Amino acid sequence: MAVAASVRRTPLIAGNWKMNLDHLQAIAFVQKVAWSLKDAGHDFAAVEVAVFPPYTDLRSVQTLVSADKLPLAFGAQDLSAHDSGAYTGEISGAFLAQLECRYVIIGHSERRNLHAETDEQVAQKVTAALKHSLTPVICVGETAEDLEKHGQSAVPVGQLRAALAGVTSAADIVVAYEPVWAIGSGQAATPEQAEQVAAQLRATIADVLGEDVAAKTRILYGGSVKAANIASFMREPNVDGALVGGASLDVTEFASIVRYQKHVGA
Ligand code: PEP
Repeated sequence: MAVAASVRRTPLIAGNWKMNLDHLQAIAFVQKVAWSLKDAGHDFAAVEVAVFPPYTDLRSVQTLVSADKLPLAFGAQDLSAHDSGAYTGEISGAFLAQLECRYVIIGHSERRNLHAETDEQVAQKVTAALKHSLTPVICVGETAEDLEKHGQSAVPVGQLRAALAGVTSAADIVVAYEPVWAIGSGQAATPEQAEQVAAQLRATIADVLGEDVAAKTRILYGGSVKAANIASFMREPNVDGALVGGASLDVTEFASIVRYQKHVGA
């Protein structure tokens, strides 16, 4: 279904640092990315840039972004479903909002696999994020086994439907389609595969939250994105950006991904 694929959505290039870069390294890195993009004349209104550092970096990144008025968004890699209380080791959406986070990644495959996060917990976290005015970046994607057994779309569509269980219409969300087999493997999906699943995800949003929300929701592709392949994904009508892992840790590579519109043939 071609749900308003033609509506203009601001592309988003998001760097998921995972458990890399301490707060001092984060300051140097964010400065370098911002300067390198500014030097290149990047139009931040045309392609939004966001970074997702570890929790312990967020205060430093916030201070830097605010003091130097850097046109970068930032967010956390996870949050608690709870607001406060006896939840040792967890971080509330309220705390993230206090640090001016705009986004929060929810349901990354590493959380689902290594921390046994369920669809139900993902849904609770999405609700918590929205409650604190954070935009959830909801990650969905199939494993190699899922792909073989169920095809490409069934698992990501099911995960998205579950994640939206507590969401009312008009919500501001971002969806990241990240095939698990493509994450950190160097073997990205093809742009056609990404488009096919992104279109199904948009149709699912339309079904659950209505056409207007579907038309404005950004759907990112993630999984071995690099400067050499980003332009091919961004040509697809339902792909509105990328969630970048490994390549987001290299200033030159990340800046080049952000500047995909300048690539030859883009
Ligand atoms: C990720 O972990 O979200 C990711 C997409 O990683 P990579 O770009 O390294 O495949």
